[in-house]
Amino acid sequence: MGLLSVSRDIKLLRLSTPPPYDAVNIYIVKLGKSVCLVDAGPATDECYRQVEHALAEEGSRIGDIEAILLTHSHVDHAGLAGRLQEQSGCAVYVHPGDLQWVVDPVGKTAEKFGRLIDELGEPEVRGLVQSAFALNTRRLKAHFAHVEPTPLPVNSEKYGLHALEAPGHTPGSTVYLSGSRVGLCGDTLLDTQTLLIDNLHAYFGTLSKLGSLGVYSLWPGHGGVLEPAWKWVEAVRQKYLGRVETVKRIIKEPRTLFEVARSLYGESLVWDPNTVRAGLSYALLQTKTYLEYLVEDRLAEKKFRNGLTYYQSCGVV
Ligand SMILES: [Zn+2]
Ligand SMILES: [Zn+2]
Repeated sequence: MGLLSVSRDIKLLRLSTPPPYDAVNIYIVKLGKSVCLVDAGPATDECYRQVEHALAEEGSRIGDIEAILLTHSHVDHAGLAGRLQEQSGCAVYVHPGDLQWVVDPVGKTAEKFGRLIDELGEPEVRGLVQSAFALNTRRLKAHFAHVEPTPLPVNSEKYGLHALEAPGHTPGSTVYLSGSRVGLCGDTLLDTQTLLIDNLHAYFGTLSKLGSLGVYSLWPGHGGVLEPAWKWVEAVRQKYLGRVETVKRIIKEPRTLFEVARSLYGESLVWDPNTVRAGLSYALLQTKTYLEYLVEDRLAEKKFRNGLTYYQSCGVV
């Protein structure tokens, strides 16, 4: 496991993580004698040791960590921050939009799943999502160390990095820019993995912003560097615009959230609670995001009938 050079002062450490997480990229920023980390990985002993080992390679120790900047609140990126904070006394910065998710990941996830379950009329689907939630909770409890975060001032410069708001994947997702050519983008853009989007309007806004910045290299939270960045931004935009069109077609006739998810994900919709992305709850959450996007734009309406919520597109399809 070596460190990869991002720039003169920034190194990438690829953490191997326990399933179901993908290997996570965290970034070590040299600040003279001390260091700052961008993201931390999940809170496992193995990840802690990998961070310790990587810092040693750089001639630093856990105690030299001055700050951790989080790209967002997901457990695979933020879970270990609290333990590193406990050991080093470092500040842990997170955008206000994700702050509560770091403080109370189980409670916030319960709210999110609660809204999803409320909408599902089909009892068998409800049951499956409830067990997915139970599994999720166990995972969060195991891999999220208690942390005392500091709200990240918006558009601030910290440790040579410029914090750019990039909502979409989560409400408080942040991209850290180093100079005019390099950005550390967390899960806002990934090379292969499918992304869970929390708010598609916000996400399209973020893509426009990233596309117009002129940044050449985006270094993500998983996988390899995205270069040239604009090409990736455009491909992702097209992908989601296409998804929205597909959903519009599916709801020409009134459909429930579950019916839309089944049409969208079809055969690939496997029920395996260990699968983060292909799982049923992932498909339902992502489908809900598309439907909310259409409802907000008045391209679809919600109807209630016999205890079920239906979506139907309106206007020209
Ligand atoms: Zn994420
Ligand atoms: Zn991630």
